[in-house]
Amino acid sequence: MKLTELSQWNIGKTDPLIIAGPCSAETEEQLYDTVKAVKEQGVTLMRAGVWKPRTRPNTFEGVGQEALQWIQDIKKDLNVQFSTEVANAMHVEEALHYGIDVLWVGARSTVSPFIVQEIADALRGCDVPVLVKNPINPDLALWMGALERLNQAGVTKLGAIHRGFSTYQKTRFRNVPMWQLPIEMKRQLPGLPMICDPSHIMGKREDIAEASQIAMDLNFEGLIIETHRDPEQAWSDARQQVTPHSLGEIIRNLRIRQASSEDIEYITHLEELRTQIDHSDREMIELLANRLDLVAQIGVWKKKNNVAAFLLDRWNRVFESRKEWAKEAALRERFVVDLFNLLHVESIRKQTEVMDNTSDESETESGLRVKS
Ligand code: PEP
Ligand code: MN
Repeated sequence: MKLTELSQWNIGKTDPLIIAGPCSAETEEQLYDTVKAVKEQGVTLMRAGVWKPRTRPNTFEGVGQEALQWIQDIKKDLNVQFSTEVANAMHVEEALHYGIDVLWVGARSTVSPFIVQEIADALRGCDVPVLVKNPINPDLALWMGALERLNQAGVTKLGAIHRGFSTYQKTRFRNVPMWQLPIEMKRQLPGLPMICDPSHIMGKREDIAEASQIAMDLNFEGLIIETHRDPEQAWSDARQQVTPHSLGEIIRNLRIRQASSEDIEYITHLEELRTQIDHSDREMIELLANRLDLVAQIGVWKKKNNVAAFLLDRWNRVFESRKEWAKEAALRERFVVDLFNLLHVESIRKQTEVMDNTSDESETESGLRVKS
């Protein structure tokens, strides 16, 4: 893939690259005030959604073309640059017409090769930088495919945005980060700038700093952080936007690692791996908690139907399949057997605890969820 280095893009003035601004452009005043305050924090590349891909209809879907006029005026007034999401050829044409400096492809578009190809065709012959968000599902090939389509249309100022992945499971994340995916992308395309979107990963403003630091520890090239003059009143993603003042604090508190000698390089890499291990262990703990919660739900269900807690037949099948899965994942069988024996003991304890609990307080209205 032929890529142009981030330093040659002529955007932003910060290292790491910081992109900030509201989820959506709402009114001219909201946009102007936010951009002015964000610029006071040293950030010069703004974000603002003009066309918003919303999950449900009849919600705010962006202002559209009118917002592009505000952006053009604000760019002149405040001497800043702007990025926005495009999802079809018409968006590309209008965004470029109004002088948008950076375009991004949203997570819901990256999943669709038809949409990405339409955007790529509209960009043929343009020199504008394009950032591609990961698809909502954890599919590296789909993410890579979108980058390739754009690159084949001649876009070389190309970057990726890691915004986490959608999951049916309830987790502390709005979109689970699965850091191994952007890391693998960086490994396969070392020249591709990787920008982290902690806002869409965490979904809560209190947690933005935490994900931003992880991204810095993993040597990401930048951050895109949703920022609003009055986050509580935002028309979209109110829960995850920060004020320009907290944006400044988040940026100032970032620990940026420098690698300037062989030795430091070694230490930096070790830190990267340790951060990944910390993260992976944290995910493992969450998975374990989730598994035991399911076990408890089975306990309640069996109790209702007067069925015994421990069914040998089921357990034997569980064991056999886990051994098979371990083999597929190249894990040592003995290790997995030991691990599942331990898990089994705790699962039985949990299930009998639920079943022996004579009060019905543990059952919620659905009769299934049990608080441990
Ligand atoms: C956004 O950046 O406001 C947005 C809609 O993000 P995503 O495509 O990651 O959901
Ligand atoms: Mn948003």
